[in-house]
Amino acid sequence: MTLIFTATSLIIAYALRCWAFPYGKCLWCIGDGIRGGTYCRRCRGEGHRVRLGRRAYEYIRREHHNGTR
Ligand SMILES: [Zn+2]
Repeated sequence: MTLIFTATSLIIAYALRCWAFPYGKCLWCIGDGIRGGTYCRRCRGEGHRVRLGRRAYEYIRREHHNGTR
């Protein structure tokens, strides 16, 4: 029971963080925007990227919006 509670808390905390701070540091260039002497392709040289959770949130919101129209 404690495990389920902990897991739920972690998921809620992660979801809140994705909602409040949609952009995370790019893991490939560690926020520099440059990797191996050239622009980081993962973040297009911006040094940050949209969190996976945020993408999921936007996907769900879009699907909901389309479904309730
Ligand atoms: Zn990057």
